[in-house]
Amino acid sequence: MKKIVILGAGTAGTMMLNKLSKALDPKEWQLTIVDKEKAHYYQPGFLFIPFGIYEKEDVIKPKDNFFPKLANVVYSPIDRIDAENNVVHLQNDQKLDYDYLIVATGSEICPDEIEGMTDELWYKSIFDFYTIEGAVALAEFLKTWEGGEMVLNIAEMPIKCPVAPLEFVFLADDYFKKKGMRDDVDITLVTPLDAAFTKPVAAKSLGGFLEEKNINLVTEFNIGRVDNEQKKIVSWDEREVEFDLLVSIPTNMGSKAIERSGLGDELNFIPTNKHTLQSDEYENIFVIGDATNLPSSKAGSVAHFESDILFENLLSAIEGKPLEAQFDGHANCFIESGGGKGLLIDFNYDVEPLPGKFPIPGVGPFSLLKETRMNHLGKMGFRWLYWNALIKGRELPLEPQMSMAGKQKPKIIEQKTQTLNLN
Ligand SMILES: Cc1cc2nc3c(=O)[nH]c(=O)nc-3n(C[C@H](O)[C@H](O)[C@H](O)COP(=O)(O)OP(=O)(O)OC[C@H]3O[C@@H](n4cnc5c(N)ncnc54)[C@H](O)[C@@H]3O)c2cc1C
Repeated sequence: MKKIVILGAGTAGTMMLNKLSKALDPKEWQLTIVDKEKAHYYQPGFLFIPFGIYEKEDVIKPKDNFFPKLANVVYSPIDRIDAENNVVHLQNDQKLDYDYLIVATGSEICPDEIEGMTDELWYKSIFDFYTIEGAVALAEFLKTWEGGEMVLNIAEMPIKCPVAPLEFVFLADDYFKKKGMRDDVDITLVTPLDAAFTKPVAAKSLGGFLEEKNINLVTEFNIGRVDNEQKKIVSWDEREVEFDLLVSIPTNMGSKAIERSGLGDELNFIPTNKHTLQSDEYENIFVIGDATNLPSSKAGSVAHFESDILFENLLSAIEGKPLEAQFDGHANCFIESGGGKGLLIDFNYDVEPLPGKFPIPGVGPFSLLKETRMNHLGKMGFRWLYWNALIKGRELPLEPQMSMAGKQKPKIIEQKTQTLNLN
């Protein structure tokens, strides 16, 4: 038997397992997937938990529900990959050898990277919403909070779902309005970027939203430490922002297992070919989703488009053919803007988000870069699609490559301008 091992059974790993199990002969190929956790989290749903729109139960299902029958499933933390010898060492002392390895270990928040972040105020006045624990604790806190300075801070880029911080402050504005306490809360978005949103066309559409909703913006703020006593965040250049409630998006990093394997960059993301998704270093290792170092967004939609490319290229590699499928950096993100409305952006490595209609050119039903009720319904409907089609590896009527059909004012931009907030 030849062996394919998939590390990580989140969005990308589960999709790849389902696609491969339909295509490969089980008498010839053994498919193994490894994860440390038995629960599958619908992470886009974490955004809604603090505001009571979703409960914990709405975003969790057993991982086992989504695996094909013949797959070999191992629940254990991964210790390290020995890429020279084609072996993965697990923390349960098992060793898994492989012919091909797919790394889909995602990214995680590392609040300990910031001095003072996890001291006495952690989960008392400082919360994250990128973990289920953080989102649930913040929901509890907000139920009885009487108001004050709410600061949302992005520690550094890249982060997964780069639009989530904006969505959070828009939803917070809505939440406090509905509770009749908006005048008692000051909302401030503190970002290391030089604007809330810097891609030119998207910035024009979105930039005004903060002002309209009376949300303050502090830019180019690179957090150095949290002062728990005086309740303030302090930047490396000694600027200070005071808070009563700090919602933090701490440093996002790849899995510690990647660090232990010596396969990652300084943030534990794996150097990966941006078009073929093959590891830069090892021909029989492919990387997908948030675990890569690609200049694309870290998003479930990106993992989905990548899964089509990786599937084709892995089959080519198995047959000894050149890797012809090319990932173009395609990302597609709904952005909740509050008040039951939302926006949609669609872009790739070379083309910034543009206005237009999606997915049927000229028709929609979704509108690109425009705030509509239909876009909000698309965002809320996505959870059903995720559980029932996407992670099961079913074909969706969406091409992996971004299409210009239905888009207005095409503008090809230089790769170097792609480095900011959507990456
Ligand atoms: C608040 C929030 C909102 C978001 N909103 C959106 C959105 O609206 N649209 C969108 O497209 N995307 C969104 N995302 C991003 C999306 O959830 C991720 O990009 C996507 O899940 C990435 O898939 P992945 O498979 O690469 O990683 P994950 O789905 O995170 O899976 C990684 C898996 O690897 C496992 N793993 C890691 N290390 C180890 C180890 N050492 N041993 C064993 N197992 C390990 C983990 O347990 C996990 O199951 C959002 C994310 C967050 C946090």
